Amino acid sequence: MQQLRAIAAPPAVDYGKIPCFRPVIGRAEIEAVVEVLRSAWITTGPKVREFEAKFADFLGGGVEAVAVNSATAGLHLAAEACGIGPGDEVIVPTLTFTATGSVIRYLGAEVVLVDVEADTLAIDLDQAERRITPRCKAIMAVHFGGYPCDMTRVLSFARRHGLKVIEDAAHALPTFRDGRIIGSWESDACVFSFYATKPITTGEGGMIVTRDPQIAERARTMRSHGLSRDAFDRFRKVGASWAYDVVAPGYKYNMTDVAAALGIVQLRRVYALQASRERVAEHYFARLAGLPIDCPAPAPSGSRHAWHLFPIRVHETARATRDHLIAALTAHEIGTSVHYRPLHQMTYWRERYPWKPGDFAVADRYFAGALTLPLFPGMSDAQVDRVAQIVRRVLA
Ligand SMILES: *Cc1c(COP(=O)(O)O)cnc(C)c1O
Repeated sequence: MQQLRAIAAPPAVDYGKIPCFRPVIGRAEIEAVVEVLRSAWITTGPKVREFEAKFADFLGGGVEAVAVNSATAGLHLAAEACGIGPGDEVIVPTLTFTATGSVIRYLGAEVVLVDVEADTLAIDLDQAERRITPRCKAIMAVHFGGYPCDMTRVLSFARRHGLKVIEDAAHALPTFRDGRIIGSWESDACVFSFYATKPITTGEGGMIVTRDPQIAERARTMRSHGLSRDAFDRFRKVGASWAYDVVAPGYKYNMTDVAAALGIVQLRRVYALQASRERVAEHYFARLAGLPIDCPAPAPSGSRHAWHLFPIRVHETARATRDHLIAALTAHEIGTSVHYRPLHQMTYWRERYPWKPGDFAVADRYFAGALTLPLFPGMSDAQVDRVAQIVRRVLA
């Protein structure tokens, strides 16, 4: 404790607060939002259509894009459109945000939690192979932190077992695996998040991307109350028909034009934002070398990491624990986070799906030492140096 207090003493020089993440919102974003507000069409309308078209175009490969008000909504609609329902099971990695699994429970289906690989923190397909049951209908692949899953392996695993594939790409924009951008692979659906802390943001928002026109059509219907046509179609033209039908008890998951206007501008910056984050990550690798920590795995050759997160794992043998390190960084006004406490350790998931010690050995070991260091576009070299200096002082 004495030692921790010494470490946690306030710095002599004021380096300013370093947040864990900060979105880039420039003049163009602000002007785009104001323009929508002035246009008097503020909910789902022309900006959403434009954002969907530009997003699909950006990914290429003939995908369709369906904008929604969160990635959680998108994952829910994707799973619903894949026909997941009561009696089905879906394979989900335990190291993810709870929404990846919750949406399966919304549909009355069961989750089969699976451990991750020690180096990449991607789903462990060998364990999935052992846990699969005849009731399994789909697998969720999470591109954790922006590290691209091995999509060739995921897709062949799914084909072998007759499973649908839904990618949780909340962290993965832009991300490439073996030369192909995530979102353009042959999964059934791939879902991006535009939450405030994600690689691009609309405040709240998400995008479902699919090559399957039936999945796209079902998602479009279900994001808007199960109506056969959306409000924009109904009200756009003076004299347009009022008629619409309800074909299912749908949800209220549509994106607003205010959010889409933000998204259109952010999408223009997508490569610049990634390049800036990548630079921060490279700087961390140089500054953190030789410490008793695991740094995130870089993307394999021919692939590209989104560098949404920079999660590290403090080794068991280090002279301070993860909690001590967080306390020291907090004392120096450096923001951190933990991505994630694995689902199987959370009350709801633990009670629903009891497990034995050793079932998720990799995720448990990772979580015991895990913390996420600040990483955001425009983070300066001096800020990275500052974070690394505290980490070094605590651990070296
Ligand atoms: C943020 C996140 C989500 C949910 O995204 P929202 O847009 O906030 O609903 C889902 N999965 C993962 C892995 C996430 O990080």
